[in-house]
Amino acid sequence: MGVALPSVHGPHVPQHPQPQPEKLHWRLGTSTNRCTRERVISHTCECRTVLFELRAAGGVYYIRRTDRTSDPVGLAFLARAVWETEGYLHRRALEVWDRLLVGLAV
Ligand SMILES: [Zn+2]
Repeated sequence: MGVALPSVHGPHVPQHPQPQPEKLHWRLGTSTNRCTRERVISHTCECRTVLFELRAAGGVYYIRRTDRTSDPVGLAFLARAVWETEGYLHRRALEVWDRLLVGLAV
């Protein structure tokens, strides 16, 4: 019996959300940090063209969505491929993140 290797994949956002998902408010973002203390808490799998990141910026949390299909030259914000949610408090951010990962929020 072999030991299962840890997956190199992060979580995948479902291709098709659940019926009537919560609609998050996405605003056009930039691919730069909002503040110097910004960090990525969690992110979805790199194998997908659309990457979601749960980010913290000075005590405020938000989700960034980057569509790399429309970012051939690494200037995603110019291609309108980077979108961000509003800022959340920690508990709400984790809730939104969990809902996103199971297709209950889009
Ligand atoms: Zn993957």
